[in-house]
Amino acid sequence: MTSSSTSFKATSTRDGKDKKPCLRVIPLGGLHEIGKNTCVFEYGDDIMLVDAGLAFPSDGMHGVNVVMPDTSYLRENQKRIRGMVVTHGHEDHIGGISHHLKHFNIPVIYGPRLAMSMLQGKMEEAGVTDHTTIQTVSPRDLVKVGQHFSVEFIRNTHSMADSFSLAITTPVGVVIFTGDFKFDHTPVDGEHFDMARLAHYGEQGVLCLLSDSTNAEVPGFCPPERSVFPCLDRHIAEADGRVIITTFASSIHRVSMILELALKNGRKVGLLGRSMLNVIAKARELGYMRAPDDLFVPIKQIRDLPDRETLLLMTGSQGEPLAALSRISRGEHQQVQVKTTDKIIFSASPIPGNTISVVNTIDRLMMLGAKVVYGKSEGIHVSGHGYQEDQKLMLALAKPKFFVPVHGEHRMLVCHSKTAQSLGVSSENMLLLDNGDVIELTPDSISKGDAVKAGIELLDASRNGIVDARVLKERQQLAEDGVVTVLAAVSTDGVMVAPPRVNLRGVVTAADPRKMSLWTEREISWVLENRWKQLTRQTDGKAPEVDWMGIQREVEVGLGRRMRRELQVEPLILCLVQPAPGGTPAYKGLVDDAPDDRSVSRTRGDRDAAIGGRRAPAPAPVKVAAAVAETSTSANASDQSDVKTQSEPESAELPSGRTRRRRSAAA
Ligand SMILES: [Zn+2]
Ligand SMILES: [Zn+2]
Repeated sequence: MTSSSTSFKATSTRDGKDKKPCLRVIPLGGLHEIGKNTCVFEYGDDIMLVDAGLAFPSDGMHGVNVVMPDTSYLRENQKRIRGMVVTHGHEDHIGGISHHLKHFNIPVIYGPRLAMSMLQGKMEEAGVTDHTTIQTVSPRDLVKVGQHFSVEFIRNTHSMADSFSLAITTPVGVVIFTGDFKFDHTPVDGEHFDMARLAHYGEQGVLCLLSDSTNAEVPGFCPPERSVFPCLDRHIAEADGRVIITTFASSIHRVSMILELALKNGRKVGLLGRSMLNVIAKARELGYMRAPDDLFVPIKQIRDLPDRETLLLMTGSQGEPLAALSRISRGEHQQVQVKTTDKIIFSASPIPGNTISVVNTIDRLMMLGAKVVYGKSEGIHVSGHGYQEDQKLMLALAKPKFFVPVHGEHRMLVCHSKTAQSLGVSSENMLLLDNGDVIELTPDSISKGDAVKAGIELLDASRNGIVDARVLKERQQLAEDGVVTVLAAVSTDGVMVAPPRVNLRGVVTAADPRKMSLWTEREISWVLENRWKQLTRQTDGKAPEVDWMGIQREVEVGLGRRMRRELQVEPLILCLVQPAPGGTPAYKGLVDDAPDDRSVSRTRGDRDAAIGGRRAPAPAPVKVAAAVAETSTSANASDQSDVKTQSEPESAELPSGRTRRRRSAAA
């Protein structure tokens, strides 16, 4: 294979080494997970993207709706992006595109008609239609991306209609990127897997195969999509009342069959769920689904039909909290309530991570009296991803020199690599990767280059706000260990002028309120004594400028460490410091009367060593500032009054000033 000198230069300069020109393939998502498949192909100055999907949040990602890959690498190299190719329209392959287009342009995106039509809608919603150009492709179309890549779209079979594998010709050789696939010899839409074309490339010589590993652990061939037809037919025919079916809206073939069965069984179809309505509209418009208009009845009118003539098709097969079926199961849907004569069919299996939500939904529906059909033994769902024998057939047709399993969790990748070994690909010719790893391919070698930045970016419900690691940690702390608020009043000359108030919400602790108050006082005193100088700036004649935020942060960190160490809890700690005017009489706290068990002096690096009775210099108080007001202005703090102790059931507050003084004297 030949390559231009520019590509040689670009490769060697970037790595700072004198390397042979190579093709770099960088998965930014899709490895060690099912979701957010995003792959970068790079040669010389050209970058081509293959798919850009999203993933759904796992447990503990509170308030996160969508997970994106970290695309720092692409943002840094956006000038080199020449275009993108898309294999098919599933969310884990196109769901990230409109988000990424907010950060970098992609000159052109080539993809199947159905996927591109779905993408167009997403881009319009995100307002990024002018950040790229969309080009649709047909089977065996060849497109050129940049100087170095040409891509042939090879029709494959999958649960989504209009799906492709890719043959990517590069200066070092041909890479086959399978996309999601199974070998379905009786495809619902009659579009057969173009095995001849795969075999053609296999015959010519394939440098590397990157293949879908989703079902690498499952022996045998994946049953054809058509095989669910008779089982669904039987369930629908036997139903006495309404039939309610849930599946992925994007499983075009499944939805087509369900519509066909509704027609066959004399039932009208009502659709629920935004994505179900959208996908069916798009698929019908583009001719991927054939169903007469009068098969569909608006939900409001379908209630007038006899139950035996009704079929409701809806979203919610994954127990998503806001989807139609989930809301129905909670009795929260305005138009549809469960009847005891309903038969509810789950024609999908839960994606790992959704199992609990799915079984909870099934339980709730059963408790409402419906008959629920679910699970593998019912024959109402098959996977869209090939099993081991499908994967072997792919390997046998492509006959690759090098092999990289992709699209799967780690154990699936390991399993898939074993399958490849059983077909004679040697283990030195394979790589097991993580997101961000770099495959470097030359005509006769495969190796791992220096990894690039990869990770996750979490989007909240709006899909605009990014939930960064700090926000997520705070949400986890709130959910798991509750929140502690600390209100303190400190004068501009650095003394505590009122007892701090501590409130706990959702915190389970054996510590008594007094201890909490004591710890808090110690932290504040320590910070005032040891950090005051660094956190204030003297100004001529005026009151010093105080970094109140810095002081709050120091107290939060110190108290957090102490709670973690002493109580093994990590609540979110919120400290608010109320500034009071300089000269406000200081509050004499609890600190002296209960010496700490550790009396070693602390340094910044050793905040855990305790403070042993030291505190801000404080004359004996007679009157102290009012407990902290809601807003942090010194005007409020100047309104002084005696400290009042309130007792709230969930709060830990200081004992009264009288008690403090007495105990103090006794100590
Ligand atoms: Zn897919
Ligand atoms: Zn996929």
